[in-house]
Amino acid sequence: MGTRLDIAKKRILVTGAEGFLARAVIPELRRHGAAEIATADRGTHDLREQEAVRRLLAETRPQVVIGLAGLVGGILVNSQRPAEFMYDNLMMGTILLHESWRAGVEKYAACMCGCAYPDGAPSPIREEMLWDGPPQRNSAPYGSAKRMLAVQAEAYRRQYGFDCIVLVPGNIYGPHENFNLNDAHVIPSLVRKFCEAADAGAPEVVVWGSGTPRRDFVYVGDAAEAIVAALERYSGPELINISSGTETAIGDLVALIARLCGYRGRIVWDREKPDGQAVKIFDVSRMERLLGHRCRTPIEDGLRRTIDWYRENRSRGGVRL
Ligand code: GDP
Repeated sequence: MGTRLDIAKKRILVTGAEGFLARAVIPELRRHGAAEIATADRGTHDLREQEAVRRLLAETRPQVVIGLAGLVGGILVNSQRPAEFMYDNLMMGTILLHESWRAGVEKYAACMCGCAYPDGAPSPIREEMLWDGPPQRNSAPYGSAKRMLAVQAEAYRRQYGFDCIVLVPGNIYGPHENFNLNDAHVIPSLVRKFCEAADAGAPEVVVWGSGTPRRDFVYVGDAAEAIVAALERYSGPELINISSGTETAIGDLVALIARLCGYRGRIVWDREKPDGQAVKIFDVSRMERLLGHRCRTPIEDGLRRTIDWYRENRSRGGVRL
């Protein structure tokens, strides 16, 4: 397990700073006393380029690095832009970890994703199932690139003793996510569709797939707390799932968001759109045991916060659309 990392005393670099997970992790680090937090985003450094990453590390000289940059998106855009999802994520992940090791970083945290697990992995999905089969086809280029983080972290720990931990979040949702209907994940897409339809008094909303898939949604604030807890308390080669461990069927999610948005019209299922993996629920016992943490926000509370945030910020132009 190693000794506890004192976050307050470290210079910390967070990449992907404009992303919604980093926007929750950075305040969480501050709550733990972190004073020196450097950030990087797409505008300042192209993290697919080794030179840019070297420059970033030379400029910020971090002792701790949290790699949260990535090209992310929902099920449709993953199948439309597989090459970019593969290349960008593989390069960003590989270069940042390697250059952090080379720069003498003391601790590194990488985030994989739940879709790296095999398509057929039985739920609840345990961390040791990672290599039991190929990832779900639509998101396989992304999921496979993310798998390499686990390989690289293990190799660098074994050969160089590099303290690199790998966390595997479930379906994270919450404020600041991308609400663009073409590439967003299911929750921001539905929040936007039902809020807009409720406001306009529209008679119909189209949602995707069959409604039968089941997912393990985790509120972004809970995931951020788990990531910081892992940074403080865990050093080891084992992956750790970060999720709520509770399941929600997409059909129930649709009904819940429609109600919370005040929408009363018809709901139409577009079955031409992909369902993705049938069931994706995570075993979170390792997180609870090693980090002493639980992701507790009930889905209804998390959705209310997300909807409130969306409504408030939409009118001010503060939502990524
Ligand atoms: P996944 O966990 O990789 O499948 O990611 P998504 O968040 O994109 O999708 C989760 C599930 O929600 C899939 O079964 C989709 O078919 C379903 N879904 C229903 N309506 C929508 C929608 O408007 N947008 C998205 N992205 N998914 C939707």
